[in-house]
Amino acid sequence: MLRVNDMLPVVVVHGGAGHIPKDRSEMSTAGVCSAARAGYTILRGGGSSMDAVLEAVSILENNPCFNAGCGSVLNIKGEVEMDAIVMDGLTLGSGAVSAVRNIANPIQLARLVMDKTSHSCLTAEGASQFARSMGVPEVSPESLITEYSHMRWAKNLAPDANPVESQMGKMGTVGAVAVDSEGNIACATSTGGMLNKMEGRVGDTPCIGSGGYADNQVGAVSTTGHGEAIMKVTLARLILFHMEQGQSVEAASDLGLAYMKSRVSGLGGVVSVDPQGRWAARFSSLQMSWAAAQTETLHYGLYVGEHFTQSLGGAPLTGSTAHLASKPLG
Ligand code: ASP
Repeated sequence: MLRVNDMLPVVVVHGGAGHIPKDRSEMSTAGVCSAARAGYTILRGGGSSMDAVLEAVSILENNPCFNAGCGSVLNIKGEVEMDAIVMDGLTLGSGAVSAVRNIANPIQLARLVMDKTSHSCLTAEGASQFARSMGVPEVSPESLITEYSHMRWAKNLAPDANPVESQMGKMGTVGAVAVDSEGNIACATSTGGMLNKMEGRVGDTPCIGSGGYADNQVGAVSTTGHGEAIMKVTLARLILFHMEQGQSVEAASDLGLAYMKSRVSGLGGVVSVDPQGRWAARFSSLQMSWAAAQTETLHYGLYVGEHFTQSLGGAPLTGSTAHLASKPLG
């Protein structure tokens, strides 16, 4: 049996809750697995949980398969506007950006907001000016638009667009939580938001306690799903509240998601960790691509009930951490 400290470090990654078209599901799973591997490599080398979540989320932002960075969904005008947040569980420091348009990695700008300003969130043009002052390279807004995101946008503008079908493929927000070998906890979440959103719409992702929260004393959560619903219940903090009340990381995640579903009809998903390295990847949507790396084992899944494992090639497991990542929520 694993002792609690043997379970550190750990990183858990998601690639968005929603309804992922069949032809994109393999890419989505491969994407979260490689991001979890990269985050774990940092942790295994003694790196911090903050560096691990930043690396995992940056990789997913650079992957055009996800709704973050290049590949972000488009707003009603056919433009990219992205939101991101990071939080450091040691200091409770956080940094966020919203409605940013011309940078490749909003998550790295969010970290700069945390590290280099006295503020928690910068938006739109002010965030761009700050990026420039920090020497963050600008990219053309067009370079963030993929053929797929343009196709989804155009399809949903059509007067006969089916609102149910239009949910297909629109979610793919990315996020990660991690605990490092020092016991420090961090979270990061990044998104292009909701498909065909109004210009200037800011979702849950950059809002502390909604898109993510990290506290060394309790744990960390990164969320995905219907942003307006997530904000109504401050999903990340709600889950941590349940953990503070003694619930396991998995039960707390389920309680938060079930409350959001029953109270405001919102669907979504989360990845969560506690300070001991226990983790969960839970969702009330049809699918959520997720991957976790711990004790030289990669765990991953996409549909409800799926939980595959693979060796990361290091020392073999000496016990089982046996998380059922996605049994259906009641
Ligand atoms: N939560 C994101 C938003 O509403 C979307 C998502 O997670 O898919 O902006």
